[in-house]
Amino acid sequence: MNEAKQRTDATGLPFLSIVSPCYNEQEVIQSFYEKLNRILTLLSGIRYEILFIDDGSSDETLSILNRIAATDKHVNIYSFSRNFGHQVALTAGIEAAKGDAVLMMDSDLQHPPELIPVMIEKWKEGYEIVSAVREKTEGTSFLKNVLSKAFYKTFNYLCGIKIPEGVADFCLLSKRAHQELLKMNELHRFLRGMVTWIGFKRAFIPYVAKERFDGKSKYNATKMISMAKDALFSFSSKPLKLATCVGMAITFLGLLYLNWIVIRFFIVGDLVLGWGSLICVMLILGGFQITFMGLIGQYIARIFEEVKNRPLYVLKQKPHETHDGNE
Ligand code: UDP
Ligand code: MG
Repeated sequence: MNEAKQRTDATGLPFLSIVSPCYNEQEVIQSFYEKLNRILTLLSGIRYEILFIDDGSSDETLSILNRIAATDKHVNIYSFSRNFGHQVALTAGIEAAKGDAVLMMDSDLQHPPELIPVMIEKWKEGYEIVSAVREKTEGTSFLKNVLSKAFYKTFNYLCGIKIPEGVADFCLLSKRAHQELLKMNELHRFLRGMVTWIGFKRAFIPYVAKERFDGKSKYNATKMISMAKDALFSFSSKPLKLATCVGMAITFLGLLYLNWIVIRFFIVGDLVLGWGSLICVMLILGGFQITFMGLIGQYIARIFEEVKNRPLYVLKQKPHETHDGNE
């Protein structure tokens, strides 16, 4: 993206929207804001807004945010009536953002604001998506690391798009990538997958995530399982299709076994009458049933893809655009 394209307002300066969801972050939100504000005010040649999405916090988070907004005109607060979840809170922020670029980050200081200037540089170089990649997280349990690795491997295998391990929702989207993301209206949202699905030229910036500055992680086991389910089932219909293969394999085994008992009956003649035929009928019929469930699954998978109503493709260049994607 070139300089000319970023200059969309009267001041001639590019405009950055920071989107940050907060859920019961009273211990950390003030420090996060101060650190973020320090970094943003040091940036020259850029205007910005900070959108905090209070995801139905039951502690003092909202009143702290309101106090911040009263003293800083760059800050806007959106507050949910109840807890709708991290991905929905990010979506609300993405919908409200007016910037030439949108940057999503957590409000617990695990996503270091120091990375923002580097991400902006990459954006100015022409990258449409700039993702921070967590190399490791200080203080994370061995189990969480193993589960996270297993999740990324399974997701990448089942879903046909590759999310690099360690890529979370800490990323900057250009106006174009932002517009494309807004076209995706699905209810079960897995944003890091959706951002990867968009495509475009993408830069990755490694960082080490610090231990939480204060407060507790809001991603308990239930929320993590629910997110993993949303991710797998909204990106892949492979599990539905697998039933067809399993059913056909069982039918095939049933037929093999049938051959074996017929041969044995005629050659050795030591079979208990009625037993072998019963097992064969069960295997073959069971196999047929599972195969047909798989076939129904194929239609359900198609309905599911249609209902998602995602764009069929994303254009990088239109006829009047030059080869580097600029208008
Ligand atoms: N969060 C949210 N709604 C939720 C859970 C979390 O808005 O239901 C926010 C939270 O305030 C934080 C970010 O999402 O800014 C990431 O959550 P957390 O730090 O608890 O997750 P972890 O880093 O432990 O995976
Ligand atoms: Mg965190």
